[in-house]
Amino acid sequence: MAGHDDTAPTADAGRPASDIVCTSCGATPDGAEALSLARITWARGVENGRDTWTCEQCSRRFLRSIEGKLDSSWW
Ligand SMILES: [Zn+2]
Repeated sequence: MAGHDDTAPTADAGRPASDIVCTSCGATPDGAEALSLARITWARGVENGRDTWTCEQCSRRFLRSIEGKLDSSWW
C-alpha cells in the first residue's frame, strides 16, 4: 500500500489517459472511448525505447507536408 490518501477519487477504471499523448501538439484522448480509439487511429512510433504517439490531425498534417500533392481543401 503506497500512500494512504483516500481523497483521490480515481475510480476511473485502470489506465490514466495520459498514457497516450501526441508528441506533436500534446493532445490527449478525452475519455476511455477516445483512448481506445486513439490506440487504433493514432500513429505509433518508438523513440529511445519509449512509445510515441501522433494524433490523427498531426499525422494528417505530416502526410500532407510530406506528400505535398494534396491541396489544402483536402482537410
Ligand atoms: Zn497532435
